[in-house]
Amino acid sequence: MHDLVIRNAAILDGLGGEPFVADLAVRDGRIAQIGKSLAGKETVAADGLALMPGIVDNHTHYDAQLTWDPLLAPSPSLGVTTAVIGNCGFTIAPCRPADRDLVMKNLTQVEGMSLEVLRAGIRWEFESIPVYFEMLARRGCAINVAGFVGHSSLRSYVMGADAPRRAATPDEVARMRALLLEGMRAGAVGFATSTSPAHNGDGGLPMPSRLADEAELRALVGALGEAGRGVFMLTKGGQTKVAFLEELAAASGRPVVVAALLHNSTNPGAVFQDLEAIAQANARGRRMLGAISCCPLSMDFTLRSPYTFEGLESWQPALPLKGEAYKAKLAERAFRDAVRAELSRPAHFRLFNAQWDQVEVVESRRKDAEQRTIGALARAAGRDPLDVMLDLALEEDLATVFNAMLLNSDEHAVGEMLRHPASLVSLSDAGAHLTFFNDAGFGLHLLGHWVRERGALTLAEAVRKLSSVPAGLFGIRGRGALKPGYAADLLLFDPAAVGRGAKQRVFDLPGGHPRLTTPPVGVHGVWVNGVRDLQRLPGQVLREFSA
Ligand SMILES: [Zn+2]
Repeated sequence: MHDLVIRNAAILDGLGGEPFVADLAVRDGRIAQIGKSLAGKETVAADGLALMPGIVDNHTHYDAQLTWDPLLAPSPSLGVTTAVIGNCGFTIAPCRPADRDLVMKNLTQVEGMSLEVLRAGIRWEFESIPVYFEMLARRGCAINVAGFVGHSSLRSYVMGADAPRRAATPDEVARMRALLLEGMRAGAVGFATSTSPAHNGDGGLPMPSRLADEAELRALVGALGEAGRGVFMLTKGGQTKVAFLEELAAASGRPVVVAALLHNSTNPGAVFQDLEAIAQANARGRRMLGAISCCPLSMDFTLRSPYTFEGLESWQPALPLKGEAYKAKLAERAFRDAVRAELSRPAHFRLFNAQWDQVEVVESRRKDAEQRTIGALARAAGRDPLDVMLDLALEEDLATVFNAMLLNSDEHAVGEMLRHPASLVSLSDAGAHLTFFNDAGFGLHLLGHWVRERGALTLAEAVRKLSSVPAGLFGIRGRGALKPGYAADLLLFDPAAVGRGAKQRVFDLPGGHPRLTTPPVGVHGVWVNGVRDLQRLPGQVLREFSA
C-alpha cells in the first residue's frame, strides 16, 4: 500500500515527454510508481489537473531569510520545491562576528533588504560555511536548499576592509581558494560571483567581487575544477566577455551560468549576442547557459534607495552620501547633466535607459501626478524628465514612490529568449529586493502567461525548463523528473488557470516590515519529499551533487 496516490493527473515528466493521464504513487517520500488504478492510504483526485516535478528555482537570495524563516515565504506556495541560494556571491558565510554589521549593510544596499529586518532576523550561529550549512540542516526548511560559496563573502573574510577596494594578492587568493574548497567539501553547489556595476555595497562601494582581476577568477573557478564538481555562476557587467567565461569553463571543465541576460529595448541585440556566444561555446564542448528571466523587470523605488540608477557611472558621486548632502547632490545641476549625458549614450547592459514613459508615479502627495508617467508630466510642463522626477522627489523628502518598467518588456524578444537552446529560465531573485519587485512566482508565470496565453512554449517544454534542466545542470540527483525512485517533489496545478496573481504588499517580515508578493493562482498542491504540510519542514539541505 502506497502512502499517497494522486489520481488521474496529466503527468508531465519534466523530461519533455508529452503529458499522459495516470496515477502517481508516493511511498517514503519517493515516487513509487506511475500507472493505472493505484491504491494508497491517502488519495487526491486530480481529474483535469496536471502534475509536474516541483520547480527548481536556481536564482534566489534566501541566505539570510532562511535563518529566521525556514518556510522561505513565498516560494513554496508558488510551486518551488528546491531553491539555490547564494547567487551573485552574496552569501552570509563565512563571516566573523566583527563583520556582521558590514555584511548586513552590504545586503541592504545590493539586494534591497531592510537593515532593520536583517538585524532583527539573522541568527548568527555560524562563522564558517560548513557550520552555516549545518545550522540550516539542524533548523530545517520547508523546501530543499542548495547553496553556493559566495565570492564577496570570501573576499571580505580574507581581505577585511580592503575587500571592496583593491585586487587581491597571490597569498589572499590562495586563502580564498582554500575557503572555497572547504565550502565545496561541506556540500556547496558551486561558486558564485558578480562583476556587475549594478552591485554596490555599503557606502556606495562596489561589492567586493567586482574588484577581482582575471587571475583571481581563474584561480577560484580553477578550484571547482580541482574539486571535480560544482557550477560557476556569475552576474556579469558589460566589461566581462563571454569569451573569457568560456576560457574559465574550458580550463575548469565546470558548467558556467552567465547572468543576468535581460532584454534591453534600447540595445535589443545585446542579449542575443551573448546567447549566441554561449551556444557556440557549447558547440565547442563547454557546458554553459545564459540565465534569463520570463518576467518583465519592473521595480518600485524611491529616491532614498534608487537601485534603478545606482549602476550608472554618473550616479556614483551620490552613492556614499546621506541626508542633506545627498539631497543637495540630487539638486545639483552638474550632477543631473552628467546623468543625462550618460543616459544619452548607448550601453551594452544598463538597468535604466531613459524610458521616461515607463517610469510612473505610484505614490505622491501630488495626487494629480499619481498613475502618470514622468514622460507625460515632463511633456505637460515643458521640462526635462530627470528634473521633473528629482524635483518631485525632493519636494516630498524623497518619499515619492515610482515604478519603472526597466527591462524584458518586449514580449516577442523574451519569447525568443525562452526558446533559445542556450537559455536557462532563472533570475527570480527571490529573497531579495523585497520592496521593489517579486518574481518568486516566475514558474507559474511561465506556465500561465508564456504557455497558455502566448503559446511561446509547449507545456511539456516549459516544465522541463523549470525542473530537469536546472536539476541536471546543478547535479541535483534524483529530483527534477517524475520517475520511480525520484524524490516526490510535486506540483499539482490547473493548466487552464495557473499563473501568479496581482502584486500585493504584505507586512510579515521581522518587525512588521513590508514586502511585495504575488499570490499563486491555479495551484492545487505542493509536496516536498512526499509531504504536503510544509510546516513540517520536509525540505533537505542538499549537500551531495553529481559531477
Ligand atoms: Zn542575484
